[in-house]
Amino acid sequence: MTNWWEKPLRAVTLELPAADITQLNLRDVVRRLGRHGVNTLNVFAISYWPGGAAYYQSSIAPHHPDLGDRDILAEAVDEAQKRKIRTVAYVNTLWGDRDMFEKHPEWAQRRANGSITTWEENLTAVAMCPNTPYREYILRVGKEIADNYELDGFYFDEPSFQSWCNCEGCRESFKSKTRMELPTKPNWGAASWQTFIHWRYNSITDFKKALYRVSKEPDRAIFFQHPFPLSFWSPERVAAVFTAPEDELTRYVKQCADWYVPLFYGADLRATAELEDIIHLELYRSTVDQPTWWYGVCIRLANSVGKGKPQMALNMQGQSPFDLYSLPEAELRLVVGEIVANGSNPLFALYYPDIADKRGWQTIGKIFNELDACEEYLVDRESVKHAAVLHSTTTTDLHDSETASPRHVNCLMGFSKALLQDHILFDVITENQLENDLRKYKVLILPNVASLSGADCGLIEEFVDKGGGVVASYRTSLHNEAGRELDRLGLENVLGVSYVGRERTVAGYDSYMKVGPTHAVTSDLPEIMYVPSTGSQLEIRPIGRACPLATLIDEPEAHYAPLKRETRIPTIVVNEYGSGRSVYFPGPIGEMYRRFGVVDHWRFMSNAARWAAGEEQHVWVENCPKNVELTAYHQFGKDRTVMHLVNCVRHEITEPISYVSPEHQIKVHVETDKSRKAVRVFTMPGNRMLPFEREGDTVSLYVPELKYHQIIVVEKE
Ligand SMILES: [Zn+2]
Repeated sequence: MTNWWEKPLRAVTLELPAADITQLNLRDVVRRLGRHGVNTLNVFAISYWPGGAAYYQSSIAPHHPDLGDRDILAEAVDEAQKRKIRTVAYVNTLWGDRDMFEKHPEWAQRRANGSITTWEENLTAVAMCPNTPYREYILRVGKEIADNYELDGFYFDEPSFQSWCNCEGCRESFKSKTRMELPTKPNWGAASWQTFIHWRYNSITDFKKALYRVSKEPDRAIFFQHPFPLSFWSPERVAAVFTAPEDELTRYVKQCADWYVPLFYGADLRATAELEDIIHLELYRSTVDQPTWWYGVCIRLANSVGKGKPQMALNMQGQSPFDLYSLPEAELRLVVGEIVANGSNPLFALYYPDIADKRGWQTIGKIFNELDACEEYLVDRESVKHAAVLHSTTTTDLHDSETASPRHVNCLMGFSKALLQDHILFDVITENQLENDLRKYKVLILPNVASLSGADCGLIEEFVDKGGGVVASYRTSLHNEAGRELDRLGLENVLGVSYVGRERTVAGYDSYMKVGPTHAVTSDLPEIMYVPSTGSQLEIRPIGRACPLATLIDEPEAHYAPLKRETRIPTIVVNEYGSGRSVYFPGPIGEMYRRFGVVDHWRFMSNAARWAAGEEQHVWVENCPKNVELTAYHQFGKDRTVMHLVNCVRHEITEPISYVSPEHQIKVHVETDKSRKAVRVFTMPGNRMLPFEREGDTVSLYVPELKYHQIIVVEKE
């Protein structure tokens, strides 16, 4: 039998810290959410403000000061069950209150200098450490809830480090496991530092396992926060932390401000995904300065890591940081479309049911009710395989938390944007999938994947030898899996380049590449053309039959001074290896594109992916602007291809999307199998039949108008 959480979910968390729970008509709230199409409700059991406060009649945890005789959890569960809404207990596993801290100061997380993490001087919420007896305390609380309430699930929020943590419990744990003293300063190049990073990950994963054990039942879904994958703190936030005194009251820690965000939290996506029943991502894009399409890239990563487990994406309803004030309809519709089109389920946080902005919730209600009618097309699906973009946790852990070099994750985001804008179908895969899944794809993208093991390089070499394509950039394969720099690229044969052992760094912006021979990768350009090529790049020489398509021109002494001569250092190299093809960009082209949006960088990357793939996609579009994202799935056991178009590849970072223009007459082509069965083509929601043409195995149709998100179904009868 299918688990309840494998069906499409439309979820809301009742966030209650600032709600007036003496007056709140909770049953009314639950009824209203039911009418809004919500089928999963996360109900506050243990809060983050005041830290650790219970919203039920706990005999262990302190009650919320306004709780009185009420049992919020029981009321919500009772009302939701009447409406067949699944209920999940929200249990915060990080914050304790002032009383807890004063009784057990040794339970608190400690920064490297020994100070605590709290939001304000009254210590209403203090971050507690799972490597102290706090762990047993919160496990007892979890068990109390699990034993006394008929719940369909548990959402454990924030099992994480919020600081270095240099508490006594952590120092003892680290020493007993590694026989080393817990470091108090970063040292990214050192093996001992990697030991520390992995010990942090393991500490949090072990804590999650214990939480899972005390709460799990066969028909209960357990899931955890996974914060902000593929991202870093926003520059403004980092600047604020760097200029703040160490003991400033802030959740953000100076020493960790520049870390890859999941690494800072100690959140190991792979280990957590093996454990939990629903892969849950927290994706508040404005917190980490990301555009709307970042949601989809993160979800694609979680699809791979979770091996098809259901997902839930917590996203913004409020215009963060203003939680009470709703985002405009355009952004809410686009983001839900983006989440669903990429294979996840939307979760919104309702801050605070009694005073929330009704406009946004009415919009969400409309969207959820529309999705309710689309359920059949959102289940049992597998993406149509074409390109794979590799995310390497090894590279991120080793190299991405320093500001000095372009980051793998940022290069990955730049490449992803180029592929989205060119409607190239892609999954985000991990190193673990190279052995068994790589062969399903036509082309592998390696965006500055600095650390690759010899075995992984061997798998990629074999893939290309047998006809696969590879597109790589910058330091890809220059380091081994332990981070040690090699004297040659691990993929030098495939890429057809020899590394001369130097990097060319360009300080200013007067650096260009001169594009030479006509080739599919550079085809749209005039014969001689200067394209920006700033930043850093590896100095390489082509070997064998490899052909450089562009070369670097040295920067002048000063801005406005004449350009210097050609260096003959290649900036784009194409190669054929065995039966396959490769394109190598020795510079961090993905990050350059992300920063500057140079149109020809986009073309080079997407042309490279197409040329290296050597084969057309089975689903493709025409007359489709680059702001429209295409995803496509086959449904298991059905002769059906389901495509999504989302008007979501937008540039807005700090401001919300308040308006999009509709697009018209996008032409979609779908290659179907050879059976001559009759075909039906329709769009959802609305079940509107569309006319189509059929030529050979290809079905072609026009989508009359796309405003936000549309599902197009091509099925055989
Ligand atoms: Zn600790």
